[in-house]
Amino acid sequence: MTEWAVVTGAAQGIGAVIAEFAVKAGYRVAAWDIDGPAVERTAAEIGDGCVPSAVDVADEESVRAAAALLPEPPRLVVNNAGIVRFGPLLDLPLAEWESALRVNLTGTFIVARTLAGPMGKAGGGAIVNLASVNGLAAAPHAGAYSASKAGIVRLTEHMAMEWARLGIRVNCVAPGLIHAGMSDAIYADAEVRRVREGAVPLARLGSAEDIAAAVLFLGSEKAGYVTGQTLAVDGGLIKS
Ligand code: NAD
Repeated sequence: MTEWAVVTGAAQGIGAVIAEFAVKAGYRVAAWDIDGPAVERTAAEIGDGCVPSAVDVADEESVRAAAALLPEPPRLVVNNAGIVRFGPLLDLPLAEWESALRVNLTGTFIVARTLAGPMGKAGGGAIVNLASVNGLAAAPHAGAYSASKAGIVRLTEHMAMEWARLGIRVNCVAPGLIHAGMSDAIYADAEVRRVREGAVPLARLGSAEDIAAAVLFLGSEKAGYVTGQTLAVDGGLIKS
């Protein structure tokens, strides 16, 4: 029997590769993204097994409506949708602060909470939340983004404790410097790329595939005794 996976923010970047990896791993994937036309294009490229929906993870009604369309509860949920809002805290408009918290942290909460009940009744499964190394250590002008991602790390631990008895494992992946998605434009500059690579112990930027492999591992039975953890996938950056 084919099991379902929900991947949010699946229209592009890391989420699109996670959706592709999940289909290759045998899941039928509900690809959710606020950009409906883009996620339809991505799902068509991935092919059979990837079903797109326009969903705003920050809107509980939107998430509930998409969840109701699933033929059965998912076995895997990947909370990948995210936005960056950079700027010095003294000047950061309150709306920027609130949108980072709303999409990244509250969106993760809404999607996970909406699906965890039905998952538990159907025998459990796994949730993997996307944080960032910025959620593990401060970075210049990343206050709003960092706070939202640090919140995801702690929220992951609480979900893991509360939902273990439902048979649901909840873990977190914290990507480092990734040459994909929201960071693609930054690394188009060869000099910036050289400097950033030099900061990474493994001496290269990460890829969307590096992140997707870690997500699929934590979502699989190979990680069946792992819950409440945050795995930094960062080439050693956070330990350097
Ligand atoms: P991206 O900007 O390329 O893709 C994010 C996707 O999320 C987009 O398709 C966007 O439409 C979707 N999205 C945004 N708001 C949404 C909402 N309200 N509801 C539903 N979908 C929404 O980003 P990415 O680089 O692929 O990042 C994916 C995840 O990885 C994010 O959580 C990000 O914070 C995290 N991350 C990325 C990097 C990096 O360098 N790329 C590093 C650390 C962490």
